[in-house]
Amino acid sequence: MPTTHAPTADRLDRAQRAVAEAGWQALLVSAGTDMRYLTGYNAHASERLTCLVVPAQGAPLLVVPVLEAPMVEAAGTTTALHAWSETDDPFAVVAAHLREIGAPGTVGIGNRMWAEHVRQLTSATEATWELAGPLMAQLRMRKDDAEAAALLRAGQAIDRVHARMAEWLLPGRNEREVGKDIAEAIVAEGHEHAEFIIVGSGPNAASPHHLLSDRVIGAGDMVVVDIGGVTEDGYCSDSTRTYLVGGQPTTEMLDFYAVLQAAQDAACLAVTPGVTAEAVDATAREIIAEAGYGPNFIHRTGHGIGLDVHEDPYIVSGNDLPLEPGMAFSVEPGIYFAGRFGARIEDIVICTADGVARLNVGTRDLVTLGS
Ligand code: ZN
Ligand code: ZN
Repeated sequence: MPTTHAPTADRLDRAQRAVAEAGWQALLVSAGTDMRYLTGYNAHASERLTCLVVPAQGAPLLVVPVLEAPMVEAAGTTTALHAWSETDDPFAVVAAHLREIGAPGTVGIGNRMWAEHVRQLTSATEATWELAGPLMAQLRMRKDDAEAAALLRAGQAIDRVHARMAEWLLPGRNEREVGKDIAEAIVAEGHEHAEFIIVGSGPNAASPHHLLSDRVIGAGDMVVVDIGGVTEDGYCSDSTRTYLVGGQPTTEMLDFYAVLQAAQDAACLAVTPGVTAEAVDATAREIIAEAGYGPNFIHRTGHGIGLDVHEDPYIVSGNDLPLEPGMAFSVEPGIYFAGRFGARIEDIVICTADGVARLNVGTRDLVTLGS
């Protein structure tokens, strides 16, 4: 449900400057993390339009369904409101406001606005439309001190869940049962809700985005546990550890796991201002490839994190963005053997003025449980 944390006041100012610099007439964002970032209002996305209009000049306007206006006030949002009634046309309201701002120009539109809203907005106005994703990424990518502290609290909360894994991750239980316990612990340890839970056991450990299944965890299984939640202030956690359940690892498992651990560690330590996102990816990838597991590392090394679990910057080949202090992202290489087993290690890190801070600090060893 919507919560009540007004952001620092300068965010809308920065957004307006960015809109002006882009030569846009306005920026429109609908319910979601862009709106929460800019106003503190965590709107519920639905068929009823909630839309923040950020003009290059002049006062921003938040267009909301009248039945949700009390929640905007409860969130401490100071943006001017236009509360529309059930029989009003909110798209006409936005269009009229754009006409008041000036002649039809370019309007940036949030990447996550629902297509049904985009269709109605584009037919109600004369504007030229651009995706606002890159502009919003520029605003959100460098975390300020309060955001870094919020991400650290989220990281510590998910570390506490991993530290309790021996309570639940046992041979004879199925992934779904374990996942249910983890979901409760994610909330109990300091999140507002669990965002995702991956318990990939045995061959499922080789499927990086596996979630949960009825598979019963067997003795000697490697189990990838990749979990995250959202704290009350909206910031996300995301951490993966791989466990060996109910037995001892084989030599083959230990060998590839040691390579993975070295690669993840080296990639974390490579983070410093000026190093590119793709160089961090290459650091992990080269170590894994040199050991002969290159084809088994089938995804990018990481993703930015903040109010969204996945946001800019992406740690991937082709992204030559130089890292800057405040950029927060995951470092999560994996090695997977389809149909057999796999492993991943994931920490959230923040680029600092002179290097890197790791927000997840629990052991990255292959921990043996239940034997
Ligand atoms: Zn993850
Ligand atoms: Zn991740």
